[in-house]
Parts: sequence; structure tokens; C-alpha cells
Amino acid sequence: MANFLVLGGGTGGIVISHILQKKLKKEHQITLIDRRNEHIYYPSYPLLMIGKREPAAITRKLGRLEKKGIRFLQTDVQEIKTSPSEVITSTGKIPYDYQGSA
Ligand SMILES: Cc1cc2nc3c(=O)[nH]c(=O)nc-3n(C[C@H](O)[C@H](O)[C@H](O)COP(=O)(O)OP(=O)(O)OC[C@H]3O[C@@H](n4cnc5c(N)ncnc54)[C@H](O)[C@@H]3O)c2cc1C
Repeated sequence: MANFLVLGGGTGGIVISHILQKKLKKEHQITLIDRRNEHIYYPSYPLLMIGKREPAAITRKLGRLEKKGIRFLQTDVQEIKTSPSEVITSTGKIPYDYQGSA
């Protein structure tokens, strides 16, 4: 089983994680890392500003990805190492086989 790390839980990281999960299914581990525990849908900011959206309507807990088989870790990425292949975070080292930054 290979360990895929996706760094960043914005639109890019969430889309990449879903594509990987669909293609790889449960054969490999996909982990998304973000320093925040929520994703905010930025294009809706103007609607928020004029009172046409509530904050809860444009945010989603990144932990919901776990239901799709994508592991979520809330931590701050400090360094990406290639030899050995590991990411240094504020809560420790995370080894990877493949990683992508979004
Ligand atoms: C008002 C508005 C309207 C928009 N309209 C459109 C549109 O119509 N079409 C369009 O294509 N785009 C639009 N955009 C732009 C679009 O929202 C952004 O391009 C998109 O959200 C960027 O996504 P991203 O995943 O690349 O980056 P981000 O959303 O910036 O995600 C990066 C993530 O990485 C995390 N992160 C960063 N550093 C670290 C670290 N060291 N450790 C852990 N986590 C970290 C951050 O917490 C963040 O969650 C709009 C933006 C705004 C503000």
C-alpha cells in the first residue's frame, strides 16, 4: 500500500484527493493535510459580504473527507523532504511515497 500525501485542503487539494480516491479506491492510503480544519468556498465571499450567505453555508469541515476514505490531518506543514521522503509538520514527521502540494 502506497501512502499519498496531499498538502493543502483548498479547492485544489480537495479535488486532487477525490480524483486519487476514485482511481485508487482502498488499495492505497490518501491523506490530506491542512493547518485549518475547514474549507472555505472563496467565490461565495461577495455573497457573504452582502448578507446573501451565512458563514456556515460556505464552509465545510475537512474531517468530512474521512467518509470518502480520505484521511485528514490538521497540522502545519513546515518542510518537505525528499530524502528520506517525509513531511515535517508541527506535530511530527509524516512519511510518504507520493506527495503533491496544492
Ligand atoms: C471572491 C472570489 C471569487 C473567485 N471566483 C473564482 C472563479 O469564479 N473561478 C475560479 O477558478 N476561481 C475563483 N476564485 C479563486 C479560487 O477561489 C482560488 O483560486 C482557489 O480557492 C485556490 O484554491 P487552492 O486550493 O489552489 O488554494 P487555497 O484555497 O489557498 O488552499 C490552500 C490550502 O493550503 C493550506 N495551507 C497553506 N499553507 C499550509 C501549511 N504550511 N501547512 C498546512 N496547510 C497549509 C491553507 O490553509 C489552505 O486551506 C475566486 C476567489 C475569490 C476570493
